[in-house]
Amino acid sequence: MENNSTNKNILVVLAHPDDESYGMGGTLAKFADLGAQIVLICATRGEAGIQGIEPERAGQIRERELKQAAENLNIRLFFLDYLDGTLSQLETKIFAQQLSIWIATVEPGLIITFGPDGVSGHPDHIAVSKAVNWAVEHYFPNINLLYLAASEATKLGCGVTETIHHSRHLISVDISDFKLAKVKAIQSHKSQNKELTGIPESELEKIACFENFSIANMSEGQKETLKWFKEKAK
Ligand SMILES: [Zn+2]
Repeated sequence: MENNSTNKNILVVLAHPDDESYGMGGTLAKFADLGAQIVLICATRGEAGIQGIEPERAGQIRERELKQAAENLNIRLFFLDYLDGTLSQLETKIFAQQLSIWIATVEPGLIITFGPDGVSGHPDHIAVSKAVNWAVEHYFPNINLLYLAASEATKLGCGVTETIHHSRHLISVDISDFKLAKVKAIQSHKSQNKELTGIPESELEKIACFENFSIANMSEGQKETLKWFKEKAK
């Protein structure tokens, strides 16, 4: 199934520090371990995310937290310089063109972002999803696009994802061996993490065994990458 020419570059485009760890930390750690070169583009520094702390200072804190999480997950990280909460004010095309430069640079076989609903409905997430879609549709139709598909199963824990396995457009990534990396990444976000406060090894049971992604487009151009991702997801 796997061959050496398979493009294992994965580009992840998200809005805030911590989106990566909670939503897909296990998957990123797993695929980095499998030899994928993973680049995370985080559009903001999460400046609005610490109550009582002014935005600039909060952004500095959260930038540091995300750098530590990225180290835990073994991925590369770049920030865009947008302000938290402002992405929906951007013109989609302009945002998409900026992202296109990153896509052209990273040359991913696979891009992962939020679905059109933004997963949580956050306007920044929705804006990112729109811009990535625009870029892929107009400039990179040969690249496969995956949406983070958060589900009840993600929250409920191991053994409850069976009911959603039926869709062929859904990929469930088994992260049981990468829960520790996920917990450590989440714990890097000290300003956000309220639930996993024990030593990492004691928190593994709170982490679901699967993270889910839906296939947003079927592209022939990089189908080997998608095949590889699906195969290794098991
Ligand atoms: Zn977010």
